[in-house]
Amino acid sequence: MKKHNFNAGPCVLPREAVESAIEAIRDFDNTGIGILEISHRTPGWERIMKETADLWRELLNIPDNYKVLFLGGGASTQFFHVPANLLNKKAAYLQTGVWAKKAAKEAKFYGDVEIVASSEDKNYSYVPKGYTIPTDVDYFHITTNNTIYGTEIHEDIDSPVTLIADMSSDILSRPVDVSKYGIIYGGAQKNVGPAGVTFVIVREDLLGKVDRKLQTMVDYRTHIGDAEKDRSMFNTPPVFSIFVMHETLKWVKNLGGLEAMHKLNKEKAELLYNEIDRNKMFVGTAAKEDRSLMNVCFVMAEEHKDKEAAFMDFAKAAGMVGIKGHRSVGGFRASIYNACPRESVEALVKCMQDFEKQF
Ligand SMILES: *Cc1c(COP(=O)(O)O)cnc(C)c1O
Repeated sequence: MKKHNFNAGPCVLPREAVESAIEAIRDFDNTGIGILEISHRTPGWERIMKETADLWRELLNIPDNYKVLFLGGGASTQFFHVPANLLNKKAAYLQTGVWAKKAAKEAKFYGDVEIVASSEDKNYSYVPKGYTIPTDVDYFHITTNNTIYGTEIHEDIDSPVTLIADMSSDILSRPVDVSKYGIIYGGAQKNVGPAGVTFVIVREDLLGKVDRKLQTMVDYRTHIGDAEKDRSMFNTPPVFSIFVMHETLKWVKNLGGLEAMHKLNKEKAELLYNEIDRNKMFVGTAAKEDRSLMNVCFVMAEEHKDKEAAFMDFAKAAGMVGIKGHRSVGGFRASIYNACPRESVEALVKCMQDFEKQF
């Protein structure tokens, strides 16, 4: 039976990217050697690194004064790399979920942290608004999409201080005005590629301003290197993950780039939210104006709470994979990232309708 993959990350990848990865494992770039077995110091690999960076810059329209890095360690490593490189005295954080809270926790190793606003009071089911960003801080940190709770900051906000964003789960889902941010980072395994590569987009003039000494691997300047070809090559980069990222970026470009992606994503999300709002068995958990285009969270309606396990079984039997909600929200979460085809969303909607008909 056809499976519909709604995993939150790692998650569905474009079929084309998977197929070319399979081929590259057999034979990379007509070298007679597979991608898992090549040296990263070869012209073929240098070309992939350069093309990946070029495509990334093109799709996100990244200005020249920003450097792009593809590292290991995951977004969780950036939680401390960011403050290590930028935090002198104090930083401000918007606490919109567990990832944001974890990011703030790491910043406390380097200085004072002010939580500007938090939605923890309502289990992070909304994005706080009307807060004031302090001006006596080194930066203000936000999480643009809250993967676990299904809330999203849909606009590039204005900040009087350097704005830092964890965009792990919504980068490439819409056009972004990179010039409004000091650093954008995230793990690739939601919208960009497989697990193993972490992207960092950093405005270069922000670096080298902290008083502390930085370990070589923590200092972003190490990974920027002296020349284009040194970039993200200080140590062995996650070669295979970057290769699949390269193929994923080509797929995004072929579909028309981020404007086109955004349109498709809005259509998919609307389809599913409309069904949640219409169907008497289910309710959405996120505040409507903050609903994420990437992670759609819903639970059984109060009078149908006893049917949660039944719907889970029903959905599984219909080929739905990965719709169990995170334990801190419960219920269901359908992650409908870029690579999740519209037909999967349609199948889930039909499954919800079929389930409703039984009662
Ligand atoms: C998944 C996720 C993370 C954690 O990423 P790792 O690469 O596993 O460290 C951090 N922030 C957000 C918003 C996420 O969705």
